[in-house]
Amino acid sequence: MRAAVLTTPGEPLQVRPVSASPLEPDEILVRIVGVGVCHTDFAALSGAVPLPLPAVVGHEGSGVVEQTGADVTDLAVGDHVVLSFDCCRECSQCRAGHPAYCELFAAMNYFGTRLDGEATLRDEAGEPVHGSWFGQSSFATHAVASARNAVRVDPSLPLELLGPLGCGLLTGAGTVLNVLRPQPGQRIGVWGLGAVGLAAIMAAKAAGCSVIVGVDPNQERRRIAADLGATHTIDPTATSDVAWDVLEVSDGGLDFSVDAVGLGSVIREALAVLRTPGTCATVGLQGLENDITIDQGHLLIGRTLTGVIEGDADPRTFIPQLIQLWQDGKFPFDRLIETFGFEEIDKAIDAAASGRVVKPVLVMA
Ligand SMILES: [Zn+2]
Ligand SMILES: [Zn+2]
Repeated sequence: MRAAVLTTPGEPLQVRPVSASPLEPDEILVRIVGVGVCHTDFAALSGAVPLPLPAVVGHEGSGVVEQTGADVTDLAVGDHVVLSFDCCRECSQCRAGHPAYCELFAAMNYFGTRLDGEATLRDEAGEPVHGSWFGQSSFATHAVASARNAVRVDPSLPLELLGPLGCGLLTGAGTVLNVLRPQPGQRIGVWGLGAVGLAAIMAAKAAGCSVIVGVDPNQERRRIAADLGATHTIDPTATSDVAWDVLEVSDGGLDFSVDAVGLGSVIREALAVLRTPGTCATVGLQGLENDITIDQGHLLIGRTLTGVIEGDADPRTFIPQLIQLWQDGKFPFDRLIETFGFEEIDKAIDAAASGRVVKPVLVMA
């Protein structure tokens, strides 16, 4: 197998041979068919998230099961799977249906090793290469995942495009459909129209929102948002007061807002435009520490500010739900995707970083 190995933060990835260590009883080996590029990967590539190096990132993989560990009973060789975040499935949050808030979430997704501290990959010299990024490390031809974070999908589906359902799209759509839960006719706004924000727009349309406002300085993103269901779009660089503009187009305020940026100025705006009561969900990641200042007066009048990880979704039920919405024509996520070959990984990362492509997906040869 080959993997795109990060040896120094900020340096280009090197696609080179690695080997997978023998599977633990709960693990599976997946031949990756496609993998999306997500902004959380950038946080690892730049060193903003401290990951032990060398390491392999990538966490929106989809592929075919090639091997199963001794205890895996619900997946078989040949199954088509979408890989999502890992979770223990045993703690109180997991059992209550909130695996994104698993007690072991950080250890299982961010530390670069199995829970016992062992790396899943080796380089040609036999030295450890850190894997287990979101329980997969799928910027590679193969990934060691767990049976817990693999969701089986119908083999007739376009497997190479489905990986982003495991993180970015699940985050945006889940924030709307699982957390905010708008009723038909309610009003919503989304700040930041990347893959997460645009998934929130599609979900808002699917839920029947009557006013859907999209805010982003990128003209092409606003065009896509309008195409996907935004009833109004706003360029924050072309107006002196975004909040005033939102209040105007929403006839006095929104019921819900989604901050997919993570900046204090954006969160203040997304709170200020809410009706009473109303809820703002913040999902944009700027870094592990990110102090913001908000006006308590915005909250005292019955409003809620909440944070959401991974759309508070259980991938096992929510990914099939998103696929069904897509088949019904209500979640056309494939319009956000541009595909690249695995060897073009740096080009794909640049395309996402510059904002030219909403969701690059690497397709393995
Ligand atoms: Zn758990
Ligand atoms: Zn992600």
